[in-house]
Amino acid sequence: MRVNVSSHDLKVLDHKHHLHPFTDHGALGVDERRVIAKADGVWLWDSDGNRILDGMAGLWCVNAGHGRQEIVEAVRAQMSELSYYNTFFKTSHPPVIELSEMLAGLTPDHINMVMYGSSGSDANDTILRLVRTYWALQGQPDKKVVISRKNAYHGSTMAGASLGGMGPMHSQGGLPIPGIHHIDQPYWFGEGMMTDMNEDEFGLWAARELERAIEEIGEENVAAFIAEPIQGAGGVIVPPSTYWPEVKRILESRNILFIADEVICGFGRTGEWFGSGYYDLKPDLMTIAKGLTSGYLPLGGVLVSDEIAEVLHRENVEFFHGYTYASHPACCAAAIANLTILKREGLVERVRDQIGPYFQKQWKALESHPMVGQARMVGLFGALELVPDENDLKKRFANEGKVGTITRDHSFSNGLVMRAVRDSMIISPPLSISEEEVDLLIASTRKTLDDAWNDVRKQGLA
Ligand SMILES: *Cc1c(COP(=O)(O)O)cnc(C)c1O
Repeated sequence: MRVNVSSHDLKVLDHKHHLHPFTDHGALGVDERRVIAKADGVWLWDSDGNRILDGMAGLWCVNAGHGRQEIVEAVRAQMSELSYYNTFFKTSHPPVIELSEMLAGLTPDHINMVMYGSSGSDANDTILRLVRTYWALQGQPDKKVVISRKNAYHGSTMAGASLGGMGPMHSQGGLPIPGIHHIDQPYWFGEGMMTDMNEDEFGLWAARELERAIEEIGEENVAAFIAEPIQGAGGVIVPPSTYWPEVKRILESRNILFIADEVICGFGRTGEWFGSGYYDLKPDLMTIAKGLTSGYLPLGGVLVSDEIAEVLHRENVEFFHGYTYASHPACCAAAIANLTILKREGLVERVRDQIGPYFQKQWKALESHPMVGQARMVGLFGALELVPDENDLKKRFANEGKVGTITRDHSFSNGLVMRAVRDSMIISPPLSISEEEVDLLIASTRKTLDDAWNDVRKQGLA
């Protein structure tokens, strides 16, 4: 890396040569961008020397916290022993074998095999091909439709974005691809509250949308239902407590595969190893990525039930699919070191029993702020719903997203990374966050809400 490049010069070069993901480049001023230069624990430092609390764990992934030299060392050692080999054509290597055994020990009893890729998106591509192949191998090639949900996030590839339910993503590039059907999401604050149902009734209604879709499409044509246990990028949408039990009931009576996209919920985010554990779900397939390596290196995968694995082990069956960098040895070494840390330090149990409840209590108290309509949190991820009038929670800000952006910008200025989804603020810090750091995070959030509320009123937005 070059040294002695000024912060401003870095920004100029970034502006000139770098196309960013999910970014309105026309609106992004040269000096408006931040160059993150260093990180340790829950802290980031930008190229201007500001210290910022990483309330998003990178992009929901740095579960073990930044700067873990143990992971760096494990990767270095693996790189010098075997920096690359593939797992096609009858070969394997020690780190992928060790990691797969480790994962089988963490997953529900009926899930014991893993197929790897490099990200959550490519894992969901694998899943789409895999579920269709599975049914074809069972003599049911017409069982192809995958039911998903509006406002779900399953990645950015053609299959990932199609499985996902993001309107703006579907508006570009001719998506979704055929064979994906989206039902309504169980979003109480954003949608259910506007109906004449109460929260429990709304949860049942949203679950039964799945049943209605299956009936409409025909069970014989439906391959699978895919869902995040809690929608992450959609806005940390925690379903009503009636939702998952009813979905489970529906799935139990149907011959349809259930895919739990655990890319965010997995590896401790909810205080359990997987979101499926938190809701007692029994998926046939699980998508993993993000917290698998805590983002130290890219690795994703598909966890496969014994029932599906059995079909893939039949004579003369070959799934014609694979990525060059699937189960890259260095990435597997990073995952092993990361999981070792999560286990040794009991970080998952700590989210469930200690730091989670500690954070949730203070987060909930933010509801007393005049701009906060709801503060929700499960494990260590949460959302604040911003509203113009605390006395009428059904009212929303005009020009959706504007207040969220104002609030996010204040948050950054107050030394805290939060993400804005529409007009809600999202938090998902490293699982290693201390009580003292939670206190700092809450203090920054309060100041941010005050600053944003002032602006919002000054601009006549509320
Ligand atoms: C981030 C995410 C993905 C996509 O993972 P990438 O590694 O960004 O491709 C898929 N599903 C969920 C639930 C995610 O949050």
